[in-house]
Amino acid sequence: MTSTLNSLAEARRAAATPLFADLAGDIGVSFEFFPPKTEKMEAQLWDTFHTLEPLAPSFVSVTYGAGGSTRERTHATVARIAATSPVAPAAHLTCVEASRAEIDEVAAAYWAAGVRHIVALRGDMPGGEPYRAHPDGYANAIELVAGLKAVAPFDISVAAYPEVHPDASCAEADLDNLKRKLDAGANRAITQFFFSPDAFLRFRDAAAAAGIDAPILPGILPVSNVSQTRRMADMCGTQIPAWMVSLFDGLDDHPAARQLVAATIAAEMCRRLYAGGVRDFHFYTLNRAELSYAICHLLGLRPKAAPATEEAAA
Ligand SMILES: Cc1cc2nc3c(=O)[nH]c(=O)nc-3n(C[C@H](O)[C@H](O)[C@H](O)COP(=O)(O)OP(=O)(O)OC[C@H]3O[C@@H](n4cnc5c(N)ncnc54)[C@H](O)[C@@H]3O)c2cc1C
Repeated sequence: MTSTLNSLAEARRAAATPLFADLAGDIGVSFEFFPPKTEKMEAQLWDTFHTLEPLAPSFVSVTYGAGGSTRERTHATVARIAATSPVAPAAHLTCVEASRAEIDEVAAAYWAAGVRHIVALRGDMPGGEPYRAHPDGYANAIELVAGLKAVAPFDISVAAYPEVHPDASCAEADLDNLKRKLDAGANRAITQFFFSPDAFLRFRDAAAAAGIDAPILPGILPVSNVSQTRRMADMCGTQIPAWMVSLFDGLDDHPAARQLVAATIAAEMCRRLYAGGVRDFHFYTLNRAELSYAICHLLGLRPKAAPATEEAAA
């Protein structure tokens, strides 16, 4: 009875508060991009980057393709950010199909290019086969973190899974694996995307109870295409809730409406995370600025400084 009364009081309070009014913009953000394959995709990436850059992200990261397939493109994208922007870039690096010597060489080249932050991952086999470590390679992300620290004093982020990685035997083993990555020298964790704020908050609390005090950034994927997302979610163990599927029902031929629904769902999720004390958010941008920008705006974030115009400079 008491909890019913509490829920009613909470519901009334929520209804009486203007939407998003309590969000002061006291948040930190980071953005993930993937390396472009074509000239057109390259133009879109830099457009996206320049739109999001004024939000002063604490870092932006660039993914690494399965089996090192994007090695040169990832390096070129990260090096360009390092050379042309005050925003700190982070390069994703995986253990897949590479020897320790090859990975160490890539890492050393990043350090030489001024890149100080690596997102260290085990990675997945191309074609979705069960993971097999390279005979001379790093067996997993724990070993990779230790190896990178031996190359240079990198700032290192690692992956975390609020809904448990599919290869983990249980949630406790997965959390223990995260703890070992942090004990090996990683500075923070970034989570796989999820659609249940409660799943993230429970995971954060379980991590704290397990003695993890490094920051855990929620990975926010603003979804505007559920069927595409389902493929990714199946691979990484993320649940797509039925309510989300039904919200996109009937919108296949309405791309603009899909974007509005996508922004609403992601912003509401961030609002709940914020209410749960989260202040740092990592956005999977898919190289598109508008959804991430809109959500940051709803969270109260504003551009830190307008980019200098030619007229102002004259
Ligand atoms: C923020 C983020 C960014 C990502 N970026 C990329 C990217 O750029 N490129 C890419 O290819 N992939 C990327 N991924 C996906 C990632 O590579 C996969 O999820 C991969 O399957 C696991 O990588 P990991 O670093 O979490 O692995 P690890 O932490 O090494 O382990 C993965 C799982 O396997 C289990 N495990 C590990 N070792 C053992 C063992 N010896 N015995 C039993 N269980 C074990 C662990 O419990 C853990 O659950 C990213 C994921 C996230 C969350």
